[in-house]
Parts: sequence; C-alpha cells; structure tokens
Amino acid sequence: MSVDAPRTGSRPERMTAHEVRQRLDHARTSRLTQLQALDEGGQGADEHLMSVQKSAIERVLKEIDDAFARVADGTYGTCLGCSEPVPPERLEILPYTPCCVACRRRAV
Ligand SMILES: [Zn+2]
Repeated sequence: MSVDAPRTGSRPERMTAHEVRQRLDHARTSRLTQLQALDEGGQGADEHLMSVQKSAIERVLKEIDDAFARVADGTYGTCLGCSEPVPPERLEILPYTPCCVACRRRAV
C-alpha cells in the first residue's frame, strides 16, 4: 500500500508565474504539434472537419498568447469578465483560460 501522494487534500495553491509559463508553454507546444499533425495527415481528409479543428486549435493558441501577456503584466488569474480571481483549480486544468466558469458560460 503506497501513501506517497503529494496532495494532502488542501486546496491547490496559486501557481507562480514560473509555473504558469511552463504550463502555458507546454499547452502551446502540444497545440502546435496537433496543428502540424493535421497539416501532415491532411491528404484526403475531410476538408471542412480539418478547418474546424484547425480553427479551434488556433483559437486556443491565441488564448495561450493572451495568457502569456497577462502573466507579463500581472493580470493573470483575474477573470476578464467579472474581475474576480479565477479559482486556482480551474487554472490547473485550463491554464490559459481568460475567465471563470460563470463568465465563460455567459460568453458562449
Ligand atoms: Zn468571471
């Protein structure tokens, strides 16, 4: 029986700028890899579906760039919709998200 889980059930801490950049960088790299895979595997594929997938990935890449800019100017982690802090557990899952769940729902 292993009990070496690092988490003790406390709420996740707000990430440091360094951690945020690492996560954003990782997210960007994996999206760029996906885009490349779409380009390379594109022969004979459904053009419409491909362009839908590509624009979805490009939209995320744009959000990642925006998130990098917010880390730089110190507004990262603050919701663009309601100016409240975005919950750290949400940023763990979606490090580039510009807003909290409520505002995201409202925007869609
Ligand atoms: Zn909000």
